[in-house]
Amino acid sequence: MTAVRAPRPRHAAESGPASASPRPLLGVDVGGTKIAAGVVSPEGTLLASVVRPTPAAQGRTAVLDAIAAAVRELPGREGAVGLGIGTGGVVDRDQGVVLSANALLSGWAGTRLSEELGDRLGLPVTADNDANVFALAEQTYGAGAGCASALYVSVGTGIGGGLVSGGRLLRGAHWTAGEFGHLAVPEAAGRPCNCGRAGHLEAVASGPAITARFRELSGDEDVHDLRRVAALAEPDAGPTGAGTEAARAALAEGAGALGRALAGLVNTLDPERVVVGGGVASIGAPFWEPLTEAFAAELLPGPAGLRPVPAALGPRAAVVGAAALLLEDGPVDVPVRRPENGR
Ligand SMILES: [Zn+2]
Repeated sequence: MTAVRAPRPRHAAESGPASASPRPLLGVDVGGTKIAAGVVSPEGTLLASVVRPTPAAQGRTAVLDAIAAAVRELPGREGAVGLGIGTGGVVDRDQGVVLSANALLSGWAGTRLSEELGDRLGLPVTADNDANVFALAEQTYGAGAGCASALYVSVGTGIGGGLVSGGRLLRGAHWTAGEFGHLAVPEAAGRPCNCGRAGHLEAVASGPAITARFRELSGDEDVHDLRRVAALAEPDAGPTGAGTEAARAALAEGAGALGRALAGLVNTLDPERVVVGGGVASIGAPFWEPLTEAFAAELLPGPAGLRPVPAALGPRAAVVGAAALLLEDGPVDVPVRRPENGR
């Protein structure tokens, strides 16, 4: 195998002077059902994008080929600095290797993303966990821009995030820094977590966990969409009944557990800002009010005035943040060393 992978491109300081027009960045978000690829300006503007289904059932090689095909379809990709990839699972950021992954992408663990896609595309390729990518997007272009320290949490089908200190996203000694979904919390005691353990935050505050709790409390087994739970919890949802009370209780339990856990992190880490995003956060007041109330009640006097703020970039954070991986070692509007095989 030709060594094409270019983990952590460190070209900025090595190469010539900045060119007049900055070169674009490429970003890809690899999920269990879809692959989103985009061309991103160094300022964070999504210039072009394509979305294709993930051929997850066909195995690793098919997924890698589909990622490469999606990138080749991007208009305006010529001259790009490189490609950044965000994917589920734990990723070795230095090597661009997936260390472990969940069932959504079978056989994904062990995939040498940077090497395999560097070979296919002839570009420097770097990769990271999708929650880190979300954090990096918000830190670079979004709700945490300009903060020296910040805590980012994405709440959706799972809970992940990232921690910035000294302006840098922490990866940790084993690439799991920011896995806030796997904090043990009392509200989740005995509840199975997606990681195979039990009692973790994700088991009580993720979208599927809140929806499952609603079914338990209401006895209504037909509700499988958190948006339905959120609608029932709205103050103007109509006459209050068992469904409304169960919806408010399920949301208050999940959001409350998250708020207390985040406040505990704030008390121990004292970040400048706390940013909460993801599909669950986007449902609005029925989630934010219990979250904020629980959060505020736990804070020590120093950070007592801090409140969580919503993420700013929405779904495009996935692709924009993946592209921003290429910026972590400095500005990129300078030529990049080509891969060794010249492709
Ligand atoms: Zn867990």
